[in-house]
Amino acid sequence: GVAAAGDDAVLPHAALSVPATDAHKYSRGMVAIVAGRMPGAAAMAAEAAARLAGYVLLLGSATDRLPHAVVRRRWSAETLADPRIGAVVIGPGLGRDDDARAKLDAALATDRPLVIDGDALHLLDPARLRGRGAATVLTPHGGEFAALFGDGEASRIERARAAAVGCGATVVMKGADTVVAHADGRTRVAMHRVSWLASAGTGDVLAGIVGGLLSGGRDPFDAAGDAVWLHTEAARRAGSAFLADDLPDHLTGAIAACL
Ligand code: AMP
Ligand code: MG
Repeated sequence: GVAAAGDDAVLPHAALSVPATDAHKYSRGMVAIVAGRMPGAAAMAAEAAARLAGYVLLLGSATDRLPHAVVRRRWSAETLADPRIGAVVIGPGLGRDDDARAKLDAALATDRPLVIDGDALHLLDPARLRGRGAATVLTPHGGEFAALFGDGEASRIERARAAAVGCGATVVMKGADTVVAHADGRTRVAMHRVSWLASAGTGDVLAGIVGGLLSGGRDPFDAAGDAVWLHTEAARRAGSAFLADDLPDHLTGAIAACL
């Protein structure tokens, strides 16, 4: 059921800022999106991230429909050592084979903020997050959350909080009632909701938004919360029966409403 929340736990309206007058593409944030077996999902994450970051690197994809992104078909763990990379996103369309596992190992080994979603959550041992030198944001839907952290009798808020505190990451427990929980025990529940989001691919867009915000140096709890807000606001603007890949275009208006 939908979680009850005290007023203090309601996710606030996102608050963004216009790029600094002396900004350049790298200073605004460079985000690396790791593609896998289903490159369309990573492409949607990349399109969303590009609305918030200054530079998008799409790794391991052969797509030619993202002229704003730098697409690198071949890459290695060293690629992620580029000091300009401000955040890495892994999981959308990744697959669950040995190749996916190796990519997740490379992402976990970086000292960059990292968003882990989708298939990468299925391959993840949350105990590995403890030693990371940078923020990690996990974006599981209900099934992915239960597989990672177990079911339980407690409320969604309490379960998300326990997971975040336990693994030292920020956890976005997605669903009709998305909960954002931080490693320090803070939680927020999204009351801005659009049920048309219940369609395939929308989660991939959310992962890209989180990565875009993180790449600019945002605090992970703020980045996760603002990403959830922007995602819903883009959906509201997209109207009814939109496609997940319509959402990145509507992010432009959603962002303008949060400046
Ligand atoms: P995923 O399951 O990874 O594709 O992500 C689905 C996205 O849609 C998440 O951001 C969910 O919070 C959102 N979502 C799914 N169902 C609903 C719903 N009934 N109402 C509002 N948002 C939803
Ligand atoms: Mg998903």
